[in-house]
Amino acid sequence: MPSPHEFAPGTVWLVGAGPGDPDLLTRKALRLIEAADIVFHDALIGRGVLDLIPEGTERVSVGKRAGRHSKDQGTINDLLLAAAQAGRRVLRLKGGDPSIFGRSGEETSHLSGHDIPVHVCPGITAASAAAASSGVSLTLRGLARSLTFVTAHARAGEAIDLDWSALAAPQGTLAVYMGRAAAGTIAARLMAVGRDPATPVLIVVNASLPDERIVHGRLSALSFLVETISDDDPTLLLIGEAVRSLDTKITRNTDRFVASAVE
Ligand code: SAH
Repeated sequence: MPSPHEFAPGTVWLVGAGPGDPDLLTRKALRLIEAADIVFHDALIGRGVLDLIPEGTERVSVGKRAGRHSKDQGTINDLLLAAAQAGRRVLRLKGGDPSIFGRSGEETSHLSGHDIPVHVCPGITAASAAAASSGVSLTLRGLARSLTFVTAHARAGEAIDLDWSALAAPQGTLAVYMGRAAAGTIAARLMAVGRDPATPVLIVVNASLPDERIVHGRLSALSFLVETISDDDPTLLLIGEAVRSLDTKITRNTDRFVASAVE
């Protein structure tokens, strides 16, 4: 059971729900879910995690998905604030880790600005789950010394504003969030500034969930590889030498091989 101090009325917990598999929740996240009066959650939160919310607990979907925001960030901030000011134990459930492309900074500063205590419970981020499912390491001694979390989500009509030269460094692994639609642009820009077209890539869809799918290939084929993936499915791109181990194992004995769905 949660201690009475862990989740006081009138406070907000931003809780990482992990990548989808409820077994990848932290014990603390589960304790907080069981103690909350109201849960605001994203559309990406897996069914298995939502099923852990006790029946009597109010739940509000503030579902955000690429290109379709059912509630804008300002509205979400206000809903959290109103619930906390009403003296409720407010839990904001976010996919993966709240601090990685989770807009936790905006929610935290809005609430703190109104003197509402806010706490964060970390979660397993999609890149970690994708690496685990694929059997690769995100860093590799001597080959991949850095790991960069990138989002390729640009506002409609705007170009993706990233330092492509820095991202093209051969000894770095890139974990690209929200990158499905921009995959072709990402590959083209990286290759234009010198990243090897033969750099291994992994596309991991629904990591940790029963309908998980892993596609692998080369940077030069990335735009074509993502065509088989629906816009609605959460998709993480991993780019770099570190993801080669799977690549070489599966592509041995064929030069023409560019893609494979691993069941
Ligand atoms: N805070 C989250 C990321 C939110 S941004 C985290 O730490 O994981 C949403 C993006 O995360 C999705 O568009 C996708 O790129 C990625 N993502 C989240 N869950 C995923 C999953 N189960 N499988 C693959 N990618 C996922």
